[in-house]
Amino acid sequence: MPPLRILLSGASGRMGRQIEALVEQAADLDIVGRADRNRSFEASVQADVVIDFSQPGLCQQSLQFALAHQLPIVIGTTGLDDALESQIAMAAEQIAICRAANFSIGVEVLRGLIQQAAERLGPDFDIEISETHHREKRDAPSGTALLLADALGQDGYPERIHGRSGQEARRLPGEIAIHAVRGGDVIGDHSVHFLGLGERIEIAHRATDRSLFARGALRAAVWLVEQRSGLYGVADVIG
Ligand code: NAD
Repeated sequence: MPPLRILLSGASGRMGRQIEALVEQAADLDIVGRADRNRSFEASVQADVVIDFSQPGLCQQSLQFALAHQLPIVIGTTGLDDALESQIAMAAEQIAICRAANFSIGVEVLRGLIQQAAERLGPDFDIEISETHHREKRDAPSGTALLLADALGQDGYPERIHGRSGQEARRLPGEIAIHAVRGGDVIGDHSVHFLGLGERIEIAHRATDRSLFARGALRAAVWLVEQRSGLYGVADVIG
């Protein structure tokens, strides 16, 4: 079988370089085009799939490219605004899109664990989320922290706040606060705290190697080229 031909959006970034390194070692994968701050995809390039780990502006261009060429696209970029979110949802009516704020299997498992913990512990336990990332990370809170908050409730309940400050900053019932710590070269740590009276549980995930996400995204790309149009996530890929 010929190698899977990949267009890599965000090629020069931390994640792009990880994906390049893995593809170099894989005989069944090939990068046939690259886009980043200084380059765009060539319109004439023949490819099977687009992988995007970049920044919202380039992510949008890559989505438009995928749509114009009817290619499936794996999107890992976080911090997208509502307009781009709805463009992705609309594009998924025509092409296959795999979208995840975190391509690790561990975080997918964490999602299930915290849902189970919240259900069993009930409203007497307060829930808070903390996340730590390297000093260069642009968006805050992380897409993964938002994904975890989503797993704990939708439609505005529990109320989501970002950090706390002020003279009257006591915790209110029914809120989840997300706390973003930034510094050094931390790849990505997430903890969900369940705080009760006399006891507490903390469930944490720590990424120790960025290639984790790159492997997940490549696995998603291989899987996605066989799928029909639609919006998929990591849970679909791992079945
Ligand atoms: P990075 O800053 O190292 O790289 C960003 C890339 O985007 C570079 O190639 C850069 O040239 C390009 N870019 C930046 N600004 C641009 C602009 N204005 N126009 C065109 N191109 C531009 O970032 P990173 O650490 O590689 O992360 C990229 C994205 O992936 C982020 O949104 C990050 O949160 C996300 N991420 C997702 C996962 C996941 O599993 N889904 C894991 C890690 C990172």
